[in-house]
Amino acid sequence: MRRKLVAGNWKMHGNHSANAELLAGIVAARPFVCDVAVCVPFPYLSETAVALAGSDVRWGAQDCSAHEQGAYTGEVSAGMLHEFGCRYAIVGHSERRAYHAESDQLVADKAKAALARGIVPIVCVGETLAQREAGETDAVVKRQLSAVIHTLGHCVGEMVVAYEPVWAIGTGKTATPEQAQAVHALLRAQLRAATAHADAMPILYGGSVKPDNAATLFAQPDIDGGLIGGASLKAADFVAICRAAG
Ligand code: PEP
Repeated sequence: MRRKLVAGNWKMHGNHSANAELLAGIVAARPFVCDVAVCVPFPYLSETAVALAGSDVRWGAQDCSAHEQGAYTGEVSAGMLHEFGCRYAIVGHSERRAYHAESDQLVADKAKAALARGIVPIVCVGETLAQREAGETDAVVKRQLSAVIHTLGHCVGEMVVAYEPVWAIGTGKTATPEQAQAVHALLRAQLRAATAHADAMPILYGGSVKPDNAATLFAQPDIDGGLIGGASLKAADFVAICRAAG
């Protein structure tokens, strides 16, 4: 039985007081049956670490550089994140693929850089609406995951995968549990061909997960929790989603 993980992706939201309130609300709601994490903007990593100290709520970043160090203005390395005690780094979110032209290989290199510093990459894959309508969903997610599998080699089993259909992110349109499960099963099969650990690996669903749809999504056999955007910004909603995974 895989333990579920619910991770919040705050995106570029937050400020000192809102963060303190949100984190306090999550901490106060413990214990959770599932693993819980928040992935926050870089400047807030430090205060998040302090606010969550002594709790089992985990935290992470929303990206990391593929490079260890050097002349890469604006980038943050996995080594730097490691110094904070960072546990996760989201890589390959569709917003970064779309707005920062991140390729499959760059995403894979970021995942490798994270793992090299003991940070678990949450690797996002997912198709656009046009790709789904063209019947390309399976090919797209397979291609995206394949780059990561080949780059990570024997470390494949250490990552978390998140299936996030682009058309469902921030749109209020959620994949049906059946649509999501079909893709998760496909990803699981691809992982099984690459690692003996595939059945222990969390595959999260992301895309307009809300308190009222979380339980049916998380009840699917290959959906091991969620990557939560908008609904992770309100403690009550995020906590309700975490409870749905329990
Ligand atoms: C996300 O940004 O990873 C996400 C899933 O967003 P939302 O839940 O708002 O659709």
